[in-house]
Amino acid sequence: MKTLPPALQRLIDDLSRLPGIGKKTATRLALHILRRPASEAAALASDLAALHSRIHLCSSRFAFSEDNPCPICADPRRDEGIICVVEGPADLAAIEKSGAFRGHYHVLHGAISPMDGIGPRELRIDALISRLRAGKKVRELVIATSSTVPGEATAAYLMEKAGPTGVKISRLACGIPMGMEVRHADTMTLARALEGRSLEGC
Ligand SMILES: [Zn+2]
Repeated sequence: MKTLPPALQRLIDDLSRLPGIGKKTATRLALHILRRPASEAAALASDLAALHSRIHLCSSRFAFSEDNPCPICADPRRDEGIICVVEGPADLAAIEKSGAFRGHYHVLHGAISPMDGIGPRELRIDALISRLRAGKKVRELVIATSSTVPGEATAAYLMEKAGPTGVKISRLACGIPMGMEVRHADTMTLARALEGRSLEGC
């Protein structure tokens, strides 16, 4: 592979650092981009550059957004008394798509996974607990972490920490198969899991 032009090699190296992309796929993607018109590569480059310049974390619930507060926090029709805690933005998007939830969110940006060096401190759990303690507005916390090992560990930790705040805690119903990430559940399953959320988990 040493014979490739340096600019192409650099792109392959960049792409292969992305999760789930090996050298082979990175090479295929880079060659594909090179064969397409220059305008498409420019559009891709500009989209990449815009990620960090335009998208920020919403300061109260940590959702990715171009606006702060984000459209969900800014929507007065949404119920501030119920907070759904999710591992990541993709989970939030999946739940929004189901249309079954009209409260607010809290995005952790990960799940507890000691093997990967992710503990509670790496997540935005303290901010969530402060939020629950701060006002009397919040009535219910819906724990919508995935039914994976890190998701379950996170749920257990959240229940331990949120319990003393006195806020009602519920979890998604068992409609989500074990081992499945929330973001991969279909909208019907998600809607049912939200409607049938339970106070003690499965
Ligand atoms: Zn927000």
